[in-house]
Amino acid sequence: MDIIDLHCDVLEKLTRLEEADFQNDGRLHANLNHLKAGKVKVQVFAIFVHPSVPQKEKFLEAARQIEAFHTKVLSKTEMVHITDWRQLDELKEGEIGAVLSLEGCDCIGDDLEKLQLLINAGVKIVGLTWNDENTVAYGTSELPSKGIKPFGHKVIQLLNKHDIILDVAHLNEQGFYEVLPLAKHIIASHCNARSLCNHPRNLTDGQIKALVQYGGRIHVVFYPPFVEQDKESTTINNLLQHIQYLTTLVGVESIGFGSDFDGMDPLSIEKLSNASEYPNLINALLKSYSTDEVLMMASKGFKDFVMEVGKA
Ligand SMILES: [Zn+2]
Repeated sequence: MDIIDLHCDVLEKLTRLEEADFQNDGRLHANLNHLKAGKVKVQVFAIFVHPSVPQKEKFLEAARQIEAFHTKVLSKTEMVHITDWRQLDELKEGEIGAVLSLEGCDCIGDDLEKLQLLINAGVKIVGLTWNDENTVAYGTSELPSKGIKPFGHKVIQLLNKHDIILDVAHLNEQGFYEVLPLAKHIIASHCNARSLCNHPRNLTDGQIKALVQYGGRIHVVFYPPFVEQDKESTTINNLLQHIQYLTTLVGVESIGFGSDFDGMDPLSIEKLSNASEYPNLINALLKSYSTDEVLMMASKGFKDFVMEVGKA
C-alpha cells in the first residue's frame, strides 16, 4: 500500500554526517532503500536548522540542506521533486515523490525575501516555529498564551499568496488558534493526541477538532515520547491507540502519517524503527480497519487534501 509521509529529518543528517549516502546508509532511517521497502510513495523532507546554529548562519544552513536535497536525494533516478501537487497523480511505478518543507521560520529572521527564496526553491509546507520563540510566533516550549507576532501575519499572507500549506506542529496553543482562520491551507504534520500522551507537542481534543473544522489534517508522529510517556519501550500497538482515538474523534479522512524518521535518534517504536518497517504498521492497521480506511490514512486522505490546494 502506497504511503505518504509528511515529516522526516534526513536532510539535516545528510549535511551533518560525513559522507552520508542517501541510497543505503544505515545511519539514515529514511534512506532510499528503506523508502522503497516500506512502499513510501511520497516523502516530505524537512529543512530543519538546529537552534544551536548562530542566527547569521541559519539561512546558509537551510540552503545547505536544499543543496543536499538536490545533490543527494534528487540525484537518485527514482526520486521526483514535487513542485506542483498535481504531480502526485503522475508518479510512475517505482518513482517516489520528494517534497520540501520548512520546520520553523527561524532561518528567515525578519526577512520576508528569504521566505520567498525558499518558496521559489520548492518549499510546499511551512511551519512557523520549532519549539522556541522566533520573529514569527512562539513554539511549544514557550508560554501557551502568546500569539502570532506582527511579522508572523506577513509570513502567513505570503504563504497564502503562494498556496503554501501552513504546518502547526511545534506552534504553541494561542498561535495555533490564531492561525486557523488566517491560513488558507493548514496541517499538523507530526503530532499525536494529548489526551493519550500529555506532551505540549501533542494536540488537545479541542485543537484537533478545530483543525479539522478549518479543513486541516493531523498526521501521527512515531517519536516515542509523543506516543507514550514514561515507557521503557514503545510498540506499534501504542501508536495504534492514538490512531484509534483520532479516528473516533475526527474520522479516517483527516488522519495521516508524519513519522519524524531521522529526527528521533536513538529512540524508536519497536518494529517501526525506520521507513522500511512501514508494512508492520499497515498490517497492524488492517486488523482493525478496512483496506479503504487504511488507504485513506496512508495516502488518499492527503492526496484528496492537496488536490484542492490552489483551486480556489
Ligand atoms: Zn519536529
